[in-house]
Amino acid sequence: MAKAAPKDMTSKYTTGKFQQIIDKCEGCERMVEVESAKYCSTYTMPEAKWRLGLCNFATHVKHEISVSTLKINPLKASKRAATAGKKK
Ligand code: SF4
Repeated sequence: MAKAAPKDMTSKYTTGKFQQIIDKCEGCERMVEVESAKYCSTYTMPEAKWRLGLCNFATHVKHEISVSTLKINPLKASKRAATAGKKK
């Protein structure tokens, strides 16, 4: 649910600098509602934030970080590196 913007802040959104939110923004806590239109309180162009993937300030989606748990034996790695240099 979008919060209503404070009365003194409504002109900030209605001057045309701020574009309305897109479908993907629905549910974000940074949305504000001004005169029955919804805007992002953080970004002027919400569509641009979603162009390359998830919006990094979205509060309604979880960002997943994949961490690889590949274990490297340092002895084997040094042997591999040493033999790789001798092959020529
Ligand atoms: S912070 Fe991102 S997801 Fe939330 S309203 Fe703004 S542009 Fe949309």
